[in-house]
Amino acid sequence: MSQTLDARHASPQALRERVFSGIQPSGASHLGNYLGAQVNYVAMQDDFETIYGIVDYHALTTVHDGAELRRLTHEMVLDLLAVGLDPVRCALIRQSDLPEHAELAWIFNTVVPVSWLERSPTYKEKRQQGIENSMGLLDYPVLQAADIVIYKATRVPVGKDQAAHLELSREIVRAFNRRYGPVFPEPEPVFTEAPVVLGTDGASKMSKSANNTIPIFAEPDEIRRLVMSMVTDPLRIRRTDPGRPELCNVCRLHRYFGSDYLQIQDGERTARTGCVDTKGLLAERIIEFFRPMREERARLAADPAVVEQTLAAGAAKIRPILETTTAEVREAVGIGRRREV
Ligand code: ADP
Repeated sequence: MSQTLDARHASPQALRERVFSGIQPSGASHLGNYLGAQVNYVAMQDDFETIYGIVDYHALTTVHDGAELRRLTHEMVLDLLAVGLDPVRCALIRQSDLPEHAELAWIFNTVVPVSWLERSPTYKEKRQQGIENSMGLLDYPVLQAADIVIYKATRVPVGKDQAAHLELSREIVRAFNRRYGPVFPEPEPVFTEAPVVLGTDGASKMSKSANNTIPIFAEPDEIRRLVMSMVTDPLRIRRTDPGRPELCNVCRLHRYFGSDYLQIQDGERTARTGCVDTKGLLAERIIEFFRPMREERARLAADPAVVEQTLAAGAAKIRPILETTTAEVREAVGIGRRREV
């Protein structure tokens, strides 16, 4: 025991808590991804041992064209590097490079009652969107739990839309540990200050699968077009009608792109400004905010090797953790060859 402690003290790295989060390569990164999760991905690199996964097994639930999924995975690596992930300080991995995630999900499947998954709000929401009701869609949170705990990560930066999934991950850990002993810690979500970001429709969560996103790396004219199409306060019909900024998605988003958002909201409330002005200003601020990242992304994209090099380095970094947990789980549940003692 004291030896373990000495070894830990010898390496400050080992004392840092581990962080995992995943993002689906099912479309371009959008404002919801950035404000809800990616801001924390970047910030947490300083103080934690961070692992971020492009979860392409998950994306198979909605992307059904192989060439397209490959392209989207490539693009997502570029997005994450451009927003500030540093492959030296974090491990950026592609889920399908590490099939142990899927094995652990299968083992969890034998512990998890189907009813837990059927009542997941995200599952219900995705079915309402018309997404094919596959076993994979139902099982999505189980694979997510496996992604996190295979690294024994204790902190998970996610958007608030993921709160129920994280609670389910904790329940899965408890159910597994009850059956087989204390193998996994319970992961805690880490949220940004942003609430769930609504889409351009102003009604539902901004999501790649809902086709209501503002992609952060879209061309400036596309960002202008999308912001101008946003639904605002539905009762503000004439320019002179006073607005209700608390119900207006455009006003809400201003909060993240300037310190004068209270004045902007006041302008709407008193009809001093119109929706078109407020949208135009928001579009320009979004474009300016992401400009340096867009330039960095273009620079990275010019190097055809950068994506695969980043993913190979990420996988190499985390492989020892993955192998240790997999051996421990196999031993606990009684599958595979007996471990040497
Ligand atoms: P999407 O729903 O667009 O497919 P993902 O499921 O890949 O996005 O989620 C990636 C991360 O972005 C997760 O941590 C998720 O909580 C966060 N996120 C996605 N959409 C939003 C949103 N509208 N508001 C806040 N966070 C979000």
